[in-house]
Amino acid sequence: MSSQLLTGLPVAKNLRADTARNIKALSGTGVVPKLAVVLATDNESTAWYVRSIVRQAAESAVHCDVVDLGPQASGWQLQEALQALAEDRAVHGIILQTPLPAGVDAAALAALIPPHKDIDGANPESLGRLAAGLPAYAATTAQAAIEVLEHYQVPLAGEHVTVIGRSMVVGKPLAQLLLARDATVTTCHSRTKALASHTKASSVVVVAAGKAGLLTGAELHEGSVVVDVGTNVDEAGRLIGDVHTESVLPVARALSPVPGGVGTVTTSLLMLRTSQAALDTLVASGQPV
Ligand code: NAP
Repeated sequence: MSSQLLTGLPVAKNLRADTARNIKALSGTGVVPKLAVVLATDNESTAWYVRSIVRQAAESAVHCDVVDLGPQASGWQLQEALQALAEDRAVHGIILQTPLPAGVDAAALAALIPPHKDIDGANPESLGRLAAGLPAYAATTAQAAIEVLEHYQVPLAGEHVTVIGRSMVVGKPLAQLLLARDATVTTCHSRTKALASHTKASSVVVVAAGKAGLLTGAELHEGSVVVDVGTNVDEAGRLIGDVHTESVLPVARALSPVPGGVGTVTTSLLMLRTSQAALDTLVASGQPV
């Protein structure tokens, strides 16, 4: 069997077109979508990711402010910055970038982002709303995995989907998004016994463990669809996923590559959400769009 590659670029292109439509709808209203990224780390991979957000914002005509408080920032400084952005009517989306300095209460800080500006789904209230079936932003990476599956018309309703990983940023919100699409969802984690018994029984497997080579072809049902969310760096310094590509390709019907899969979609999704949040705010204020 030859696998289809579920590449992220066509998905991202569609999201960018939707963002452009929102920006057009806002033209003449005086409102420019604005995203704020709060940063308190000198982590190199975070810096790389923030640069890609800034670049995507510029290409999408979304204003982007990076509030860099430095790696020594205190919880109090972060709190003040987030409260100011929460109250700033010109800001439509807020991202609290991780990792945060040791000792700060990340969940308490994320809870300061109002759900309508929580375009990265970091506030625990956003995950609670998602679980309750209320409107909310799901964590961006989880939504990006769904965007990839839906773009390639992978059936989800009634299908058994296994998610490997139960973090707040991928596994848990993704399980909720899949349930909302009528999938039968199994969530696995590091304490799961007989992982293969779950993956082999699934038509779709999403792996988000951060363990290179974790999912091999021997653990899959012939013809299943695999979405690889993992990002790891191999000995040669290359970015690789959690999938053992050589053994999975002959078994899977389709596989999202790393790089070039889910990760390609996330920044475009952030811009779409910021532009949508700006539109929603305008509509809520009663101004015609
Ligand atoms: P995380 O917080 O470290 O969570 C990893 C999850 O995987 C945990 O639930 C863990 O189980 C589970 N796990 C670890 N080893 C396992 C094993 N051997 N078998 C089964 N489950 C196992 O990581 P994360 O933030 O969710 O990120 C997951 C991966 O996605 C990472 O590689 C990260 O870099 C990547 N990522 C990519 C993007 C993107 O845009 N492409 C964005 C975010 C994250 P326990 O709960 O039991 O510890």
